[in-house]
Formats: sequence, C-alpha cells, structure tokens
Amino acid sequence: MSLALPQPQTPAAVREMASARLGGPVRLFRAPGRVNLIGEHTDYNLGFVLPAAIDRYTYAAARPRAGRELRMSSAQFPETFTLSLDRLQPIRGWGNYLAGVADGLQAQGLSLQGADLFVTSEVPHGAGLSSSAALEISTGLALAALSGAPFDPLHLVRAGQHAEHAFAGTQSGVMDQFISTFARAGHALRLDCRNLEWELVALPAGCALVVCNTGVKHELAGSEYNQRRKECEIGVDLLRRDRPEIASLRDVTLAELNAHQSELTPVVFRRCRHIVTENQRVQDAVRAFHEGNFARLHRLFAASHASMRDDYEISCRELDLMVAAAEAAPGFLAGRMTGGGFGGCTVNLVRPNLVDSFRSATAQAYAQASGLEAEIIATPAAAGCEELR
Ligand code: ADP
Ligand code: MG
Repeated sequence: MSLALPQPQTPAAVREMASARLGGPVRLFRAPGRVNLIGEHTDYNLGFVLPAAIDRYTYAAARPRAGRELRMSSAQFPETFTLSLDRLQPIRGWGNYLAGVADGLQAQGLSLQGADLFVTSEVPHGAGLSSSAALEISTGLALAALSGAPFDPLHLVRAGQHAEHAFAGTQSGVMDQFISTFARAGHALRLDCRNLEWELVALPAGCALVVCNTGVKHELAGSEYNQRRKECEIGVDLLRRDRPEIASLRDVTLAELNAHQSELTPVVFRRCRHIVTENQRVQDAVRAFHEGNFARLHRLFAASHASMRDDYEISCRELDLMVAAAEAAPGFLAGRMTGGGFGGCTVNLVRPNLVDSFRSATAQAYAQASGLEAEIIATPAAAGCEELR
C-alpha cells in the first residue's frame, strides 16, 4: 500500500470548504497527528512514552441539527454515515470511530446533540502517525463543544480510547489520544501510562524533528500487535507467581527479569526485555533532552531501534533501511522506527540548519536501497486539539 501524504491545508480554506459542504457557517475544530520520540509498546504495559504532536491535523467542522442524528462525511473517504445518538453500536467503515467517540462521551455523562459533521485530514492514515486518534479527538471535541455543557479534556481521551477498544477492536494504549489532546507547541510530553501523570519536555533549539515515511505498511501489523500484548501478559503472569504485587511490566526491573529468564520462553523473555529496557530509555531520554545531550539521545534512539528489531521483532526491512539511510545523512543526530511497527515511519532528530540536506540525502539513499520513494516531513512539535475561531 502506498501512503501518499495529504497536503497541508489552511484553516480558512477548510472552513470555506466545510461551509459549502454543510450549507452554512460552521464551528471548526482540529486535532494533530503524533510521532512518538521514544517509548514504543510501553503504553499498554503501563509504562512511559514520549510523544510529540506533529503539525498535520484532522479538521472537524460541525453544525448543530435538530433531533438526535449525527450525519457525517469526509474529504478523504467516499462513504457518508447517519447515526442515531440513541442507538450507537459498531459499524463498518470510518464512521465507526465517530460512533465510538459519541458513545464514549455519552457514557461519561455528556448529553450530546444532533450535528452535521465534515472531516478533512492532512494526517496520512495507516502510517503510524495516529490518524485515528486525530479523528477521534477532533470530532470528540466538536461533539462536546456543540453540547454546550462543560467538559474535561480527559473525557475526549477516554472517549477516543473507547472508540478504539469497543468499536474498532484495537486494544491500543492511551498515548495517541492523550498527546493529540494535551500537546504543547515546542514540547514533547512524557506520559506515565499507569496514572496519567505527565510532564512537558521542551525540545532543545539544537534539534529539529523529521519524520520519514517508508511508504509501506505490512498486513501483519494488527494481528502481531495483539500477539505482542498477549506475550507481555504471559510474562507478567509468570513473574507474578513470585511477586503477586506485579501488575504490569512497568513494575519489573531488568535484574528481576533476568533472574527469571529460565522460567520464560525465549520469545516471551525478549518481549519483556524490550518493554523493561524501553521504559528506562524513556526516562534517560527525558534527562538527555533537558540537558541537550545529543550524543546520549543518539545512543538511546539506536538502542531503542535495535530492541524493537531484535527483541520485540516489529521492525521490517524498509524501516531498517530508512534508519540506515538517515544515519549516514548530514545533520543526523538520532533516529529510530516509531509507532506500532511493520512499516510506517521513522523519527529523527536533525540539526536545524541541515534539515534540507538531511531530507534529500535520506530520500536518495532510501530510494537506492529499497526502490521506494520516501516521504519526509520536517515538523515543529505542535499544539494539541483546539477550536479555531
Ligand atoms: P493510524 O491511526 O495509524 O493512521 P488506523 O488504522 O488506526 O491507522 O486508523 C486509520 C483509520 O482512521 C482509517 O481507515 C479511517 O477509518 C479513519 N480515518 C483516518 N483519517 C480519516 C479521515 N480523514 N476521514 C475519515 N476517516 C479517517
Ligand atoms: Mg490508529
């Protein structure tokens, strides 16, 4: 599957298009996609992650309508949907995410109203930049704002997660919805997925964020994701026999894991080792960002990539080639695969004055090695969801 990047749109142009589609003035909301700097597959293991929002957004335009219906269309998908707020259940197609978000908001006590919604996005879908969370949070914000009642941004996060779990059938963690909601410009966000405590981490002026899209997404992503979750649970169940207070791999040290190696299958041991060491790398990376220590970030990103490739086994040839292409390019400071794995993107820290040379050298080396065209986005760390007035 090719993953061409949709072109950035201006809010004014989106508002005009949406008003034409919905037949009158609209309220306009948006929520960003995200890239995870480090901390992969740690979220559902109740560990640490360090995502940043990218300046690619999903826009949701809305007009209230009388009655209990939601009608929605998208600039990227041909199907349109009409849902009743009184009978929300999983459906086929992208409208499923809205059904899930609306259901999740109502389950938390918000009284929603009927609406006409139009969605358009610059976040490529299926590229590991979480277009689904951007869709959930932008439309969730629209529905919550139209209801007129006060709400907590955490309602949006929970509703988005409900859409993934109970409607889309993806047992994902809380990271994507959280960063799309709470991101701050110029910052990454360190999230503790066990208690949702979070901390903004300013990105040093000496590095720019560059996302490189391999242009591939291998089909095993979904099934392998759920398989990895299961393997982590098996590890926790075995470790808990010795120490019942272990609730997740978050509660396990590397020394403790090593001490129990013989009780785990080699595969389960390696899966657990990735999570345990990755949690530590997030903590170390936060410190390195604070200190502007790029040599340390280089080692941490490289170790994270190797751990995902060898222990968690979620990399693929194209991701490894893209990381190698970037490493040899001018301005490279640190890089690794990012997201669920089996395709999608790498994330890189690059010297700001060399972003253009980095971009062309990486694209050229990747094309030579893989025969594929890379799509490369240099992005500031962007702000989270908002209404545009
Ligand atoms: P990712 O979140 O990594 O981009 P997912 O498979 O989780 O990939 O989510 C992609 C799905 O989200 C799409 O198949 C579609 O159902 C929905 N989606 C994403 N962007 C849009 C959009 N602009 N309009 C409608 N639906 C969208
Ligand atoms: Mg998704």
